[in-house]
Amino acid sequence: MKAEIISVGTEIIIGSTLNTNVQYITQRLSEIGIDVLFHTSVTDDPELLKDVVNIGLERVDLLIFTGGLGPTEDDMTKEAVSEILGLNLVLNSFLEANIKEYFNKMNRSMPSNNIKQAYLPEGSKFLINKIGTAPGIYIEKDNKVIILLPGPPKEMISMFNDQVVPLIKQNSIIKIKTINTIGIGESSLEMMLKDIIEEEKDFTIATYAQEGKVDIKIMAKGNDIEVIESNLDKIIKAIDNKASKYIYSYDNESIEEVVYKKLLEQNKKIAFCESCTGGLIASMFTRIPGASKVFDRCIVSYSNRSKIEELNIDEDILSKYGAVSEEIALEMAKGLLKKTGVDITLSTTGIAGPTGKTRENPIGLVYIGIATKDNSYVVKTTLSGDRDSIQNKAALIAFNELRKAL
Ligand code: ATP
Repeated sequence: MKAEIISVGTEIIIGSTLNTNVQYITQRLSEIGIDVLFHTSVTDDPELLKDVVNIGLERVDLLIFTGGLGPTEDDMTKEAVSEILGLNLVLNSFLEANIKEYFNKMNRSMPSNNIKQAYLPEGSKFLINKIGTAPGIYIEKDNKVIILLPGPPKEMISMFNDQVVPLIKQNSIIKIKTINTIGIGESSLEMMLKDIIEEEKDFTIATYAQEGKVDIKIMAKGNDIEVIESNLDKIIKAIDNKASKYIYSYDNESIEEVVYKKLLEQNKKIAFCESCTGGLIASMFTRIPGASKVFDRCIVSYSNRSKIEELNIDEDILSKYGAVSEEIALEMAKGLLKKTGVDITLSTTGIAGPTGKTRENPIGLVYIGIATKDNSYVVKTTLSGDRDSIQNKAALIAFNELRKAL
């Protein structure tokens, strides 16, 4: 079944309301085996709305509208759809009583225009609105299904899950698996997986670039869950064979959680000293419930003075190599290990920009130091983007280095 979602409302077109309904409905439809082919947004203009209805009926089997079901003049969705389908609007006495009851309960008299919401296109079913007054509408005509839902997300979601899903659920099963990678760009990853992507005819495999990381999404569809799962396993293994070096988790477990779990399993404690990331790494890490079990401290050693005072860095080494250098990243991590006695430490020093670059040190240059009792080393990276982006990417790479070290 092919679907189109149509969001009605000037507030969406002018950008004052973020269209969260379309994202929600698309995700839910794909989970129940319905392909969404089009997203359309349209202003509260009856003529444009009618055009959109006509176009939708031409190209898909299922049209889902949200918004424009309210009592006011500019709420025109039902009227436009009914006109194009050639259906009269008929007063439904149950809905009329329901709306009156709603206002009675709230101790308010019903404004006369609310009666508009009790009219239904002939032959359609209504969907009860447990939260607001605008009922939803389900229409089947000429092998097409047209569903009208209210705009407010809470009303829409409750109606969609309780009443729409049982009406449109398909027999096919959809499973989506996400593989999360870091340390490789999207196009290189796609090239690496080219054979698997091209060979695989039944499942869709696609890469999605995020800031500093790339997700691989596999969408598997079929009628037999066992077959789907065994094929999915085969694909995951094939991807793992090629890209295991870059895979840090499955189904969106965050990289800091992966590090946290490793520390917990190994009964290890960690500390950070952050210069260019300014505490971001510690902030991400302490968002994990239970972080105190493995996290000792973070020193935000931004100035040279704090590096000397807090991490015992030799002033001569600091002036010889400069604060942004491999040597200082290493000294920071080692100094912190000595000071705290934890099992593993991580340091960052770099140039987040936009100012501060020198001839040797470009913006985006970041050194990440790691120290344990047995081993200490530094990873050098050069990152692109603005200050925020460089800091975020540096934090992700830092966690990835910890993951590898652990
Ligand atoms: P009601 O009469 O119950 O408000 P309605 O169907 O007439 O329902 P609209 O008037 O179109 O709904 O929208 C009401 C509010 O719902 C909007 O002001 C907006 O805050 C929210 N809304 C509408 N459409 C969307 C959407 N696509 N995504 C997120 N929010 C939306």
